Amino acid sequence: MRCPFCGAQETRVIDSRLSQDGDQVRRRRECTECRERFTTFEIAELTLPRVVKSNGNREPFREDKLRSGILRALEKRPVGSDQIEAAINRIKKKLLARGEREIPSRLIGESVMAELARLDQVAYIRFASVYRSFQDVNEFREVIDHLEHDPQTDNSQQADLFSGDSGS
Ligand SMILES: [Zn+2]
Repeated sequence: MRCPFCGAQETRVIDSRLSQDGDQVRRRRECTECRERFTTFEIAELTLPRVVKSNGNREPFREDKLRSGILRALEKRPVGSDQIEAAINRIKKKLLARGEREIPSRLIGESVMAELARLDQVAYIRFASVYRSFQDVNEFREVIDHLEHDPQTDNSQQADLFSGDSGS
């Protein structure tokens, strides 16, 4: 692999290790010319299923779209990038594991909801309110009830949940 600093052709691997969940190899390399060091990542390339939208249109799965939806829900919330990336990876694995060529977009939305419910309740409500657009009050109540019955619910965050646009 070419050196990104000086462009020399020869670089050597000085360290190689598997990521924690075992699906990524991280290599530390050193340029034989300028001695600069850099890191490369190796991951398996897998094709995710195409997404069937509610109007029947098909589109390719787009990870950047998934990520931006999750990041929007998590804006200004105390959730680290590592946790977010791990959640995105779990969603992708889950979709791949189905082994289907096409999946309904609803399935992605629900996977995101499941991950956000674990990560941050405020983000979960934000995402759910946009995603489901809460046609009626009962639907919204269901989501809140679901959180209240979750043993992981942290009561100190409850006030936060309702301080926003709960009247909508
Ligand atoms: Zn170099």
